[in-house]
Amino acid sequence: MSQQLTGIGASAGIAIAKAFRLENPDLSVERQPITDVDAELSNFNAALETSKKELEVIRAKTKQDLGEEHAEIFSAHLLVLSDPELVDTIRNKVKDENVNAAFSLKEVAQQFITIFESMDNEYMKERAADIRDVSQRVLAHVLGKSIVSLAEINEEVVLLAEDLTPSDTAQLNKQFVKGFVTDIGGRTSHSAIMARSMEIPAVVGTKSITEQGENGVTVIVDGLEGTVILNPSEGELAFYRQKQADYEEQKKEWAKLVNEQTKTQDGHHVELAANIGTPNDLVGVKNNGAEGIGLYRTEFLYMDRTKLPTEEEQFDAYKKVVEEMNGKPVVIRTLDIGGDKELPYLDLPKEMNPFLGFRAIRLCLEKTDIFRTQLRALLRASAFGNLKIMFPMIATLQEYREAKAILEEERQSLVNAGTEVSNDIEIGIMVEIPSTAVMARQFAKEVDFFSIGTNDLIQYTMAADRMNEKVSYLYQPYNPAILTLVKMVIDASHAEGKWTGMCGEMAGDNIAIPLLLGLGLDEFSMSATSILPARSQLASLSKEAAKSLAEQALTMNTADEVKDLVESFLATTK
Ligand code: PEP
Ligand code: MG
Repeated sequence: MSQQLTGIGASAGIAIAKAFRLENPDLSVERQPITDVDAELSNFNAALETSKKELEVIRAKTKQDLGEEHAEIFSAHLLVLSDPELVDTIRNKVKDENVNAAFSLKEVAQQFITIFESMDNEYMKERAADIRDVSQRVLAHVLGKSIVSLAEINEEVVLLAEDLTPSDTAQLNKQFVKGFVTDIGGRTSHSAIMARSMEIPAVVGTKSITEQGENGVTVIVDGLEGTVILNPSEGELAFYRQKQADYEEQKKEWAKLVNEQTKTQDGHHVELAANIGTPNDLVGVKNNGAEGIGLYRTEFLYMDRTKLPTEEEQFDAYKKVVEEMNGKPVVIRTLDIGGDKELPYLDLPKEMNPFLGFRAIRLCLEKTDIFRTQLRALLRASAFGNLKIMFPMIATLQEYREAKAILEEERQSLVNAGTEVSNDIEIGIMVEIPSTAVMARQFAKEVDFFSIGTNDLIQYTMAADRMNEKVSYLYQPYNPAILTLVKMVIDASHAEGKWTGMCGEMAGDNIAIPLLLGLGLDEFSMSATSILPARSQLASLSKEAAKSLAEQALTMNTADEVKDLVESFLATTK
């Protein structure tokens, strides 16, 4: 019997493959007396060898796919397993106390973790995380359970998981992972955003996929509608294969627009830019004909590794992006860590409300060494193309002024040292916090541009966590409250001769696009795969008509009313 689940369509497309459930095995152990010490030790030794072999394979694969930098963590894990201090202490405990290997391993590893964690040294703290990770792997083998690593998947699957962290998503191999489905998360959670940039169909927030989806059953993921079908019937399979083929056809039609100008029916140009996470995304940027980069989320440079990236590494990445964009604008956002993006090696205290906490510019203004390193890399890269700098999560003018003053200090010191730095870098801010939208008039006098981050602006305006599927109904981009804030920002920038872009997911939404065009948005920045559909839609719209549509929408009472209004408007433009 087939079974249907509904979630949130997070990345467009249809995937059909076998289910692969990503689960964390139960690794609880009890102390048990043993009689056969040799058997216990040989089980432990075998588990150790298997773990080493697995890590060698993962290390080689990661190095090949993602580079030496990312493979480093697995080298560190292998080192832990060759450390006699740890391994012999475990063996001795088994022999001396006649206890099971699983218990000895867990106890000894925990002692080491506690010691390393209490050291006042970043490097040693990282070793604690390595020991925790690697001892879990060995423990799973001692217990006869298996731990799966995403990098090890080598057949076509649809991944089912409670959630995927952004770093899990970064490890996905597109060749084998055809789609993914999660229990939690929303359209703007970062794993969803990454799925779009990797063009992997995904449905998130199904609440119960990991309960319902058995390993190995056939799964259909419809990322267009947000539906998932387990054990589909022949009829359903045929229907979705057809839908998949139709979608591929549609993509071919859109592809014809790749070198076209973005123009409305009445001849107005707006800029269609792409959001990227790493220089690797540049392929998608080119294939989809982006006119610039409206948001480079630099935090991915800091993730999936064991220490901060150096100024040189950052410089290389930024320089590569601006050079490859060949004079087209590239808006690079300074580090936005926190919320659902963690950096374990910074060892920040756990927070009750991470999205309301110590994130993005707040962290950078306190940890100024991290901030200054990034700013220097950005300033140096500015000499190689059209680079703009943007600060995230600005809540007050003081924060903006402080960030800008630090940037200015770094610029001066580079210039004094004779380093080439562009002298016309535009400096802008993201508008993600309602206080900033409300104060846009004052900000507009001091910033060069705004980019509206609706993923956060909506979560903060509606007080609805963007990761929580229980309140995802409050993610309402068409709510007149949101439209009013967007209008305030655009109008304020234009009054000062500045420009406003939008880099939240709303910018690529086909119901929002006519409204944003009508409100006067200058730049739309979105997942690269949304660019061609947006260009095709804009060509069918008239800016004048969109303006009256937006004015009318602002007088509506609810998001649903606005949606109905836009849908009937679009029906007449077809
Ligand atoms: C946003 O908040 O809309 C945004 C683009 O930033 P991020 O999704 O990375 O928080
Ligand atoms: Mg944001």
